[in-house]
Amino acid sequence: MKIVDIQWGRISLPLVRPFKTALRTVEAVNDIVVRVITDQGLVGYGEAPPTAVITGDTEASILCAVQDYIRPALIGMDVMDLEAVMQKLHGCMAHNTTPKAAVDMALYDLWAQAQGQPLYKLLGNARTELRTDLTISVNPIPQMVSDSLEAVQQGFDVLKIKVGKEGLADVERIDAIRQAVGEKVQLRVDANQGWTPEQSVEIIRAMEEKDLKIELVEQPVPAHDLDGLEFVTRRVHTPILADESVFSPQDAREILRRRAADMINIKLMKTGGIFQALKICHMAEQSGVECMIGCMLESRLSVAAAAHLAAGQSVITRADLDGPSLCARDPYHGGPIFDGASIAMSEDVGIGVRDVPCEVWS
Ligand code: MG
Repeated sequence: MKIVDIQWGRISLPLVRPFKTALRTVEAVNDIVVRVITDQGLVGYGEAPPTAVITGDTEASILCAVQDYIRPALIGMDVMDLEAVMQKLHGCMAHNTTPKAAVDMALYDLWAQAQGQPLYKLLGNARTELRTDLTISVNPIPQMVSDSLEAVQQGFDVLKIKVGKEGLADVERIDAIRQAVGEKVQLRVDANQGWTPEQSVEIIRAMEEKDLKIELVEQPVPAHDLDGLEFVTRRVHTPILADESVFSPQDAREILRRRAADMINIKLMKTGGIFQALKICHMAEQSGVECMIGCMLESRLSVAAAAHLAAGQSVITRADLDGPSLCARDPYHGGPIFDGASIAMSEDVGIGVRDVPCEVWS
């Protein structure tokens, strides 16, 4: 099944409310979508969110990568020789993980469609349903409390609280949310690189002393500071999850070797897609380290690909796939069904998401 063209377009979906982290504020999902067309009439879809502040990938750089490097490298290749196509995809240029992820998922979509199977069944078939948390944006405390209560009312029993802008005052936010939602709701804290190592230890110990029962703290220190990450992990009881520190399988290997974190957050936009993400899954499994699956601000198209990976791999024990819940509408049909905290895998072949509308298919 030969690749005859790779095309692109844009999709724009408003968010239910602005998304705010220590790094940015966003009002809408404005993503590039790609479709890979084969000589047998099958079409695979992928999505690339420009998240410059994390991946370095902008809309212009994504388009350039797809048009000038990836498309010419892959045209004429056989999708069913997946290993060779993936080597080519990852070898045709360094970095640029977001456009690679979009094309990678479109290729996996095709590969599974051709075998008449939903993708997760070919990736390990570990489970048919996932539960996702919901992100609570950084805002004044009363708003974060009311957003948290609203999420719990919608059926979310795990909340991911964004902090990282106010040092020790962040403990007050978490305390206020914990008092409001009670003990049964699981709370995760994501500092998005906002703290120094010393500050992290101080803040996390303060949360431990107040017995706020935090499930994990995500990326307390800057991405490049592995010494700092290790420093924090060794000094607190709360599990530390590496996010921005782990893009590639090489990054994961170093974190695992040093035990610089207790868990790894895998995102397709950091790894460059499913092929590289599977390598991290296998390494983590061998090290006895659990993974979370996460996403950027993405619509259900690419989040569905992440859901297939998580449903396939038992080492992925936690899901932070709230992109579709944050979007005000879903223009697609088919694929995994996102309903509040529940993600139910469907029997649709491939990744399953169809009817992808967008401004231009170039
Ligand atoms: Mg994070």
